[in-house]
This record gives sequence, structure tokens and C-alpha cells, in this order.
Amino acid sequence: MLSIIDVIEDTTVDGPGFRTAIYAAGCPNACPGCHNPESWDINRGRAMSTDELLDKVMSDDFANVTFSGGDPMFQPEGFTELARAIKTRSGKNIWCYTGYKFENILNNPRQAAMLNYIDVLVDGKYQQALRDENLLFRGSANQRLIDVKASLKRNKVVPFEYNPFL
Ligand code: SF4
Repeated sequence: MLSIIDVIEDTTVDGPGFRTAIYAAGCPNACPGCHNPESWDINRGRAMSTDELLDKVMSDDFANVTFSGGDPMFQPEGFTELARAIKTRSGKNIWCYTGYKFENILNNPRQAAMLNYIDVLVDGKYQQALRDENLLFRGSANQRLIDVKASLKRNKVVPFEYNPFL
């Protein structure tokens, strides 16, 4: 079971193209200026099963998927199971937003398992002083768009290069 704040279908803001965005409840990061402080308490979410979320994702043939929050890495087992099921059933790409840094996730086996099914990780806490509205798909300049597969392969952070024409 996962604790979920909301599921928004066909959003275009949390990654490229149309996406099914799943907003996790629960976040330990307490970033000043957080866009969604009501998501911090994991008990404020609705309990949803992996199957229920998978059905929602699969009901849209064209939308890709974004995990956001809250912080999906705060419920790593549930989101890993969901991401694995999505990848088993489809070719959908998965973006994941998290306040944890890639390097720290790698050192936490509970969280690192999810990386095997994530295409792009947007990492790092939101920092109000580095806020920039012109940044693509992220709120502050310290946050990184990371190509997870390439990063795992080369054992170093490889930035994701967004090409709007692909
Ligand atoms: S990681 Fe995101 S949801 Fe959590 S406190 Fe920071 S901005 Fe808010």
C-alpha cells in the first residue's frame, strides 16, 4: 500500500509531454518555500494499492509517468514495486522528483532499488534562494535532471539532456 495525495492525469508540467503524475504523501525534507507543505504528513494521503495505481497509469495509452510529492523516495518499497510493474507492462518512461540527492540514494539500498526503473531523476531539496522560474521541469538551480540509466552505467551523475524535438 502507498499513501497518495493525488493522481493527476495528462499533466504537462512534471516532465515532457502528457504524463500521469502520482503525488506521494510524506516528505521529511521541510524545504523552506515548499510548494506543497500539506503533503509532508504521510497520514494525510489516501491508501492506494500498487494495482489501483497501475490501473490508472495503464488506462492512458499515451501518457508517460511522473512520481512526485511529497517525496516518493520516502516510500521506496511501494514506489519501486509500482515502477517495476509499469516497466513490465509498458514502455512508458518514468520521471521521479525527490529531495534526496542521487549520491545518497545510491548508498541506501531501500531507495537505490527504485533507480533501476526510473528514467529521469530530478534530485535535491528545493532551495528558495536558487529559485528560477525559467528552469525547465525544476524549481531551483541546485536541482538536477539526471539520466539515471547512463549514470548507473558510468557510475557518475550524467545530466539528462532534454530535446523537445525528439
Ligand atoms: S522535497 Fe518537495 S515536497 Fe518535500 S519539502 Fe521539499 S519542496 Fe516540499
